[in-house]
Amino acid sequence: MVNALTLQELLLITNGQLLHQGHHPSVTAISTDSRKIYHGKQTLFVALKGFKVNGHDYLMDAFSKGVRTFIVENDKHISPLTDCTIIVVKSALEALQALAKWNRNQFSGVVIGITGSNGKTIIKEWLGQILASRFDIAKSPKSYNSQTGVPLSIFGIENHHKAAIIEAGISLPGEMAKLQTIIQPNIGIMTNIGTAHAEGFSSQAEKLHEKLLLFKDAQLIVYRKDHAAIHRALTDQFPSDRLVSWSDQPGGDYTLSTKKEKEGSKLTLIKPDLGLFTFHSHFTDEASLENLRHTIVAALVLGLSETQIQQSIPVLDTVEMRLTLKAGIHQCLLIDDTYNNDLAGLDIALEFLNSQRPKKRKILILSDLLQAGDKSSVYDSVSNLISHYQLDMVFAVGSDIGQLKAPPSCTVNFFRDTAHLLEKLPTYALQDDLILIKGARIFQFERVVDALQERIHGTVLEINLNALRKNFTFYKSLLKPSTKTMIMVKAFAYGGGATEIAHHLEQLKADYLAVAYTDEGVSLRQEKIKLPIMVLNPVQESFGNLIKYDLEPVVYSLSFFRQLGEYCQSNATTIKVHLDLDTGMHRLGFGEEDLEALGTLLHQFPALQIASLYTHLAGADEALHEGYSKRQLAQFQSMCSTIKGFLGYAPLMHALNSAGIVRYPAHQLDMVRLGIGLYGIEVNGLHENALQPVSVLKTTISQIKHLKKGDTVGYSRKGTMDHDGKIATIAIGYADGYDRRFSNGTGQVLINGQKAPVIGNICMDMTMIDVTGMNVHEGDEVIIYGHGLSLKEQAKAIGTIPYELLTNISSRVKRVYYLD
Ligand SMILES: *Cc1c(COP(=O)(O)O)cnc(C)c1O
Repeated sequence: MVNALTLQELLLITNGQLLHQGHHPSVTAISTDSRKIYHGKQTLFVALKGFKVNGHDYLMDAFSKGVRTFIVENDKHISPLTDCTIIVVKSALEALQALAKWNRNQFSGVVIGITGSNGKTIIKEWLGQILASRFDIAKSPKSYNSQTGVPLSIFGIENHHKAAIIEAGISLPGEMAKLQTIIQPNIGIMTNIGTAHAEGFSSQAEKLHEKLLLFKDAQLIVYRKDHAAIHRALTDQFPSDRLVSWSDQPGGDYTLSTKKEKEGSKLTLIKPDLGLFTFHSHFTDEASLENLRHTIVAALVLGLSETQIQQSIPVLDTVEMRLTLKAGIHQCLLIDDTYNNDLAGLDIALEFLNSQRPKKRKILILSDLLQAGDKSSVYDSVSNLISHYQLDMVFAVGSDIGQLKAPPSCTVNFFRDTAHLLEKLPTYALQDDLILIKGARIFQFERVVDALQERIHGTVLEINLNALRKNFTFYKSLLKPSTKTMIMVKAFAYGGGATEIAHHLEQLKADYLAVAYTDEGVSLRQEKIKLPIMVLNPVQESFGNLIKYDLEPVVYSLSFFRQLGEYCQSNATTIKVHLDLDTGMHRLGFGEEDLEALGTLLHQFPALQIASLYTHLAGADEALHEGYSKRQLAQFQSMCSTIKGFLGYAPLMHALNSAGIVRYPAHQLDMVRLGIGLYGIEVNGLHENALQPVSVLKTTISQIKHLKKGDTVGYSRKGTMDHDGKIATIAIGYADGYDRRFSNGTGQVLINGQKAPVIGNICMDMTMIDVTGMNVHEGDEVIIYGHGLSLKEQAKAIGTIPYELLTNISSRVKRVYYLD
């Protein structure tokens, strides 16, 4: 915040009603997330009603962290908040936005507003990195660009800042006008406008028009003239002296052309005064070069010299807007966040660390924070974060960071530079620890990651936990709030890795997990997963483990019921079980004809407590089978009433899998069983766009070979070159789960955005690809599934389904998790 807020100001700004007045210290921070409160006493907590969470449920949590000033929408949960100042408003979101607008108006520095379809976050980060070498600046953390993200970004602007860079993103008409009043940028950057038909907008023109509202009062607007629609709209709406255009070709205010070189690209700048300059960058891809040119022009407009800009360019890296989890040596788990180092980013990374599965210790490896401004207050804030997140150990690297005074519960080891850290690191016996590695670029902490990372072979499966969350939220949106969710994490969570995914689902508040075998359940329990777990295929030999690990087996036959009942009786124990009712799948389960005998067994063995009754639809994914599905659902109801009659209590009832949730939402009953949909595949094909792909299977090129027409490739000489050309050998084979049926041109992979076919037979650990005419190098990344290569299409090419491709990815392929 630029200035502290008094109670009078708060009331005036939010137009709120003072419900109760407690002792009111002035407010210097605003929070909407009770997990992130550092100076409770001076913090105002705004209870937002989000889609997923309701801030009103966290008032007590905020109170326990010292907060005594609240903005709420109703007085329902406020009675325990004694001696607090409580303001009631109609809309907490509007109050938050009004407060942001107020903070913006207190700020006299320059505000740079960025919008457009792609590149916003990267340009913000790059421009931030270039400017930070000269000014004290604020910028939105990560990609906080929404109706709530923008206000939170604006609260990050403080008195000492000279400039702020804020990004704005919208998904609905009307949103940008609101963001404009909050950001009021002095300088605007319009990145580009995607062709994708944006949700909520009737046309691209409407979307563009809406985005440009951000620049209503901007003095200067930077944009690329080659984007014809943007150029037309801007010149229509704004006088030319407010527009700063750049282009590949002569004709814009700045000409910035690019030329590929051996190691990167050369950018030639011709300025409006015809001054010439050349920049060099290691980027060669079109998107990065466009983002870079937006950044250069904006920095020039802000008064930096070409030489100053060029000095910063080599340190701009592909902004990894994601915190990557990596498997470390000695069972450590690494969080790699080595591209920048500022307080806001540190906070986000520590929060991510805290949300991981607990390990032995929480360790932070941190470099100097290259943040202008008062150093000692910066390190005081770091110290606060260390105690807030209860870190056990810090490795502090650099000269400034010597000022850090950590709380007594945390050991700090200081190092002059990265080389010293690397030298001493092996003496610390890191084992089974959770380690966040966060450093400014110049400290080259990638060397630290390299030293601590477990070596993996070239193939990885990347799993985007944020996409998983979005998919979960999508299915939740089709359900009543009271309907429970059971998540199928059988078969290694459809290949994605059961433990990490189960842990993440626990955080997302799923209600139940299901696995195929007892062993899968045991390993989840050993990894401290606490959710109830249903086991689909239990066997007699595993009864001991079912009870020991609190797992809930499915019982699908009379004989199995009796065996389990007798086991429980002789061990004087009870167990929760689920009854599978066969209504037409004809796989496992009790039929109508079993019900009478089942009734007898239920009376005979009360040790079996029936947690749920369920059935499985045989054709939920096809309209063709709607009649059959409806009959299954009706039969399920009738079997359930018979069983409930025997029991005298009502277990949960559930029938729908992912496809069923979409097709038969009226039959969601008490719970649904979500599987493939969570992993990003909508098998009905009805809501493809609502889901996000969760996993990408990748490998690398091991070697490139030039071959002549007629040469043969691989085993049995099945591949023949029908032209002079080249092939790439990639580090994946059928033992990794790359199906041998993809051999001989049936499968395609993606290299640098281009598709290339498999040539010859797939080998056990390797595959050859025809890359004739493509600009590819040894070591290049190769995508097997994901991004431009849809799993559904690949599966279709070899006559199977996405389920099989996903679950066949071998366990030797490393799983790497990230949040974007
Ligand atoms: C695997 C499975 C599901 C989940 O099916 P999806 O099609 O992946 O959603 C649901 N119920 C049972 C009994 C299952 O075996």
